[in-house]
Amino acid sequence: MNNSQNDPGEFGLIDWMRQREGISRSRWTKLGIGDDCAILQPDRGSDLLVTTDMLMDGRHFRLQQDGPRAVGYKAMGVNLSDIAAMAGVPRAAVVAVALPRAHATELAQGLYAGMHELAGQFEVDLVGGDTNAWDGPLVISVTLFGEATERGAVRRAGAMPGDVILVTGTLGGSLFAGRHLRPEPRVALALAMHQVVPIHAMIDISDGLSSDLGHILAESGGLGAVLDESAIPIHSDAYDMSRKDGMCALDHALNDGEDFELCLVIAARDAARLLADPPAPAVLYRVGVVTERPGLRLRGADGHERPLVSMGFDHFRTVEDPP
Ligand code: ADP
Ligand code: MG
Repeated sequence: MNNSQNDPGEFGLIDWMRQREGISRSRWTKLGIGDDCAILQPDRGSDLLVTTDMLMDGRHFRLQQDGPRAVGYKAMGVNLSDIAAMAGVPRAAVVAVALPRAHATELAQGLYAGMHELAGQFEVDLVGGDTNAWDGPLVISVTLFGEATERGAVRRAGAMPGDVILVTGTLGGSLFAGRHLRPEPRVALALAMHQVVPIHAMIDISDGLSSDLGHILAESGGLGAVLDESAIPIHSDAYDMSRKDGMCALDHALNDGEDFELCLVIAARDAARLLADPPAPAVLYRVGVVTERPGLRLRGADGHERPLVSMGFDHFRTVEDPP
């Protein structure tokens, strides 16, 4: 596929795969393609969450500069973030690696050290995988299995007009100082919030707030949202980035990827409760509201609303590599 105007892009391709899959063949499939994790419903026991993410040298990291330990850490972290986005409990992982032939063993050991750091912290077992060596660059793919709680997995679908949109941290500029390599999966926070209020919809911010919130709105039946410009929490990295590239820090906060914070949508009265007493040590930011009227809009300090175009990360459209 080329990158022409008519190219459906990464998300168009995923939609195509989703249509082709159609009605599920297996009775285990409760939720297939289209969310942060699939939900499988074994005949006995709780729902199983499954997610996989692949990282490639030159795209998601630079091995030469970052080192294998950081790569392993990120590979595990991004998957943990997807389990967090469904308010699930991570349990076990399998890992597939394509190692550059030179230094294969040393590299693998570094990767595992990084993965183990997070696996230990989140009580995840590495239960299998596949090891290959070749003359190409490093590729690592982690598949993570988790469990939904008795309150059920939280999906991207489920937002309702009038709901409040929250994010769990400051956003933007994650590439600036390597923060994209050190995700802090919000597993405990998601579980704690899900205990006290029903979360209508949730996603982790991997492609940028505008893009990821867009997924929630699309999956929730084509709703819209108004975001308050002054309420968007901007990370100091976004300011540093804007000094470097001249783009405004707000745009970095709205469109940069790999913050791995959560974006959640809950009823207005629950939001008031949660904001008054957030599960420690969390900081929650109220960034806007869901509307019946489709489309994303940004409201300035003067009350004026303007359309906000989702400019988040799309693997087929974004060609520049990490710094
Ligand atoms: P995330 O950023 O949360 O990892 P993605 O945007 O990568 O989500 O994927 C969105 C949905 O599309 C997920 O349900 C994912 O499993 C599915 N998906 C992505 N690529 C493929 C593929 N090659 N085949 C089948 N499903 C895919
Ligand atoms: Mg995700």
